[in-house]
Amino acid sequence: MVGAVVTNNPRDRKLVTLAGIIPDADGLGMVVDVGLGLISGKEVTFHYYQQFHHLLMHGWPAALAVVALLAGFARNRARVFVFGLLTFHLHLVCDLIGSRGASPSDLWPICYGEPLFSHPIWIWRGQWRLDGWQNQSVFVVVFLVALWLAAGRGYSFVELAGRRVDTVFVGVLQKWRTRLRPKKPLS
Ligand SMILES: [Zn+2]
Repeated sequence: MVGAVVTNNPRDRKLVTLAGIIPDADGLGMVVDVGLGLISGKEVTFHYYQQFHHLLMHGWPAALAVVALLAGFARNRARVFVFGLLTFHLHLVCDLIGSRGASPSDLWPICYGEPLFSHPIWIWRGQWRLDGWQNQSVFVVVFLVALWLAAGRGYSFVELAGRRVDTVFVGVLQKWRTRLRPKKPLS
């Protein structure tokens, strides 16, 4: 949604969106953990996942490095840099607010200086469960607004997977919208 509103071309839109998704790439250690578990036949330990997730790419050093790199591919570099930083940090704020585990003590802190500095560390004791009703409600609202925006603008978040798939997706949305619209009475 941020990308759709602040950019004026598909490339920059994708880059601003990517900046908001990329932080969780540090969770890919889980793939390595599961792979190692399958190869060794031992119980999966989640060693790499625990070691890197929320540490490697959830601080200002990664924000600057990743967003500067993404802006290098942009049409409007300054704009993508500024709004890439915004979506990157929106991700961190959302993690801070709503990424708790099953038990109330299973809080996820944001280690904002990692991996270069061990401080500051932020934690919110009221953190929502990752699968809690608050996150589910926000998801439903944001998802509906995104669909509504997509039908009006002619492109959606599916654009990340490719322009052609997105054209088909938006086409379906627009058909639905036409059906849902109340017909004007003939005067
Ligand atoms: Zn995250």
